[in-house]
Amino acid sequence: MISKNMKALVEQSAAISALFTEGKRMRQILGDENVFDFGIGNPNVKAPLSVNKTAIEILENMDSLAIHSYTDGAGIPSVRSAIAESLNRRFQEKYTQGNIVMTTGAAGGLNVIMKVLLDEGDEVLTFAPYFGEYDAYVANAGGKLIAIEPNIPTFLPNPKKLEETITSKTKAIIINNPNNPTGVVYGEEILQEVADVLRKKEKELGTSIYLISDEPYRELVFDGVTVPYIPKIYENTIVAYSFSKSLSLPGDRIGYLTIPSTVADFQDVVYGAGVANRVLGFVNAPALQQLVVAKCCDEKSDVAFYDKNREILYNALTSYGYECAKPQGAFYLFIKALEDDDVAFVNKAKEFGILMTPSSGFRCNGYARIAYCVARDTIEASLPSFEKLAQAYHK
Ligand code: PLP
Repeated sequence: MISKNMKALVEQSAAISALFTEGKRMRQILGDENVFDFGIGNPNVKAPLSVNKTAIEILENMDSLAIHSYTDGAGIPSVRSAIAESLNRRFQEKYTQGNIVMTTGAAGGLNVIMKVLLDEGDEVLTFAPYFGEYDAYVANAGGKLIAIEPNIPTFLPNPKKLEETITSKTKAIIINNPNNPTGVVYGEEILQEVADVLRKKEKELGTSIYLISDEPYRELVFDGVTVPYIPKIYENTIVAYSFSKSLSLPGDRIGYLTIPSTVADFQDVVYGAGVANRVLGFVNAPALQQLVVAKCCDEKSDVAFYDKNREILYNALTSYGYECAKPQGAFYLFIKALEDDDVAFVNKAKEFGILMTPSSGFRCNGYARIAYCVARDTIEASLPSFEKLAQAYHK
């Protein structure tokens, strides 16, 4: 018999699996051309050509044993150095390989850092709406995720609520910037306020509160917006980065943790992360992909493609009467549902061939997430259906 914990997870996962299978089911009923699947954040932009070219070069020219052997738990030293140098160029830091731990994407990195930091019963805070997998990542390490209620309509962190929620059990806070599901980018000012609260509470409680900055969408920003580099704002920050979206490599499972030397118990955290990679069963981040990203880490996928999708969809949807803050990052629109119950709204949309994710899955009621990382044709062909859906509520 499977465990009670897993049983609960399987039940919760049913909604996510349903998103995968629902598109298929709808295609059978409505026909391929009448289904507009905005359910999952799977990039539709190809990886830059250099990624495959680099992989081929490595496979053709490097010693096979060197490519395919186990690596250090923290990753290949030369790869960690290459990533550190790239970050130093971009953010004027002084990192060395000792600040970088290669991981199996951001998901792997987050699980690793939770394993390193949490004791049974420790609390980790985050701001709703948030990527629903955080609950499991924290629980996997024996901790408990506490969500701070959504700050509607800006969806920015609420420092006052943060201060009220921190207790002596608070070990860390997770921030996701740019944000999934809202597409909001947190600016310098609000992050300074968050940092001030964390410092104040650390002093008051005599504890260390780590800020885990989950940044798979860092490179996907529009309108000239920049994403603040949080380690410059709060010294106790660890960044979980991923190439899943920036290089369109979600299936390759490659990313890294940046652990600045200013982090509390820095050396223990770095060693711990290497060990956590091993004991969690990742063992090490995929060796070939480590070698590839060491050479391609300064590149990014076609952000202009997502930007155009965003413009077309945002302009059309707001003209049909949908309410939505214009997202500045990631590849999601977070629209207000046209009825109170977001699940009922998403089900209604299915009648028009539109597949979206109800916001309650992100612990925030009354909205729907549209992942617009899809083909341009899908965006354009979906517009009449979005218009009809709006009309169905306004007649
Ligand atoms: N964090 C957020 C906010 C995400 O949206 C995702 C994936 O969609 C992840 C983490 C996990 O990404 P990865 O593929 O890098 O593990």
